[in-house]
Amino acid sequence: MANDYQHTIAGEFELAGIGIHSGEAVSLRARPAPQGSGITFKRTDLPDSPMVPAQLDFVTGTELNTSLGLDGARIATVEHVLAALSAFRVDNAVLELTGAEVPILDGSFVPWLEALRSVGRSRQSSPATLIEVRETITSRDGCQASYTALPHDGLRISATIDFDHGAIGRQYGDFRLDESAFLAEIARARTFGFKEDAPTLRERGFGIGASLDNTVVLDEEKVMNGRLRYPDEFLRHKVGDMVGDLALLGGRLRGHVVAERPSHRGNVALARDIREQHEREQRRSLIDVRRIMACLPHRYPMLLVDRILEFEPLKRIVGLKNVTINEPFFRGHFPDHPVMPGVLVIEAMAQVGGLLLMDSVDDPEGKVVYFMSLNNVKWRRPVTPGDQILFEMEVVNIRRMAWKMRGKGRVDGKVVAEAEMTARIVDK
Ligand SMILES: [Zn+2]
Repeated sequence: MANDYQHTIAGEFELAGIGIHSGEAVSLRARPAPQGSGITFKRTDLPDSPMVPAQLDFVTGTELNTSLGLDGARIATVEHVLAALSAFRVDNAVLELTGAEVPILDGSFVPWLEALRSVGRSRQSSPATLIEVRETITSRDGCQASYTALPHDGLRISATIDFDHGAIGRQYGDFRLDESAFLAEIARARTFGFKEDAPTLRERGFGIGASLDNTVVLDEEKVMNGRLRYPDEFLRHKVGDMVGDLALLGGRLRGHVVAERPSHRGNVALARDIREQHEREQRRSLIDVRRIMACLPHRYPMLLVDRILEFEPLKRIVGLKNVTINEPFFRGHFPDHPVMPGVLVIEAMAQVGGLLLMDSVDDPEGKVVYFMSLNNVKWRRPVTPGDQILFEMEVVNIRRMAWKMRGKGRVDGKVVAEAEMTARIVDK
């Protein structure tokens, strides 16, 4: 699947209501944020407006809602707005709150999604952070929730819930959650609760704002609100909650999660397990990148790769080149109108590709990559100081030690150059 870019919201919006647990009036104003900043809550009602990142490390509670906190600043019931941001592929935003809980609105995800769709999103220039499940992960939360996460191209959730109540019982569903599926199949599902639990919960500070306007309430026999929005609305709401809790990973999750009786606590524990696997992978590939960088024979001023961002052995590599005004070639090309020479753009692309080849040999120190052909070279736009070129190289085929690759260089998401190249690894 092609890599996507980070996005923020293209404008601001504000939604106001009450907190389902606190019962207090609160409003949330969403604002755009720079790339790489992630989703951050900001308590504008507190002195100095403290910020709390929407990330796993800041989870402070998972009972009946997911809460975040940092120092004295708490934010309850973050899961619905986070699910909508995740489904709408917004990576960066600041969510300003005038109180300690996100407003519950109608108890579902849809008011958030509608607000997001009305302002739209705008693309940023860095690639989105992907968190891919690479190997099967099993995660358990006591005897209640259990999960298996498997590799999958995209986000898919299969979930089962089981409640000893005539109106719910056992429900199962399988959802491939791109934006349109989330909107059609999950977004309208409301949170739910049992009438008989309400007094005890209220005593403990939960559900004080809950009413038939924001919660599907079940008495001993039936749903008290009238018609459900989906026949299995309960299940679908739980799947939406999972999307929101898993958004605390701080990246776009790609995997198939099979969940039995999911809970906030279990979702967060699963997210931690997924993160652990992801970080292990990252460490491994980072070591690989350092190793291959060490064996690229080029040195300044001919080393034109700053960093490798992504790497799949024998398949694909993404490398970065920051083009600064201090590059030696700008001195003569051309002092009053600096443009990076097109052939050097292609050279940088070839160096990124060379790293991919070097990783395939056991003794890269003794080898060198020779380029044998260049085809379909196109320069689409000039590269100037301040540009950050992202080179993405893909292996087309490998025949008799000759590697055919296809590459593109992009600046701010726009293609600046493309080429096909063939290279061979030879002994030094
Ligand atoms: Zn919920």
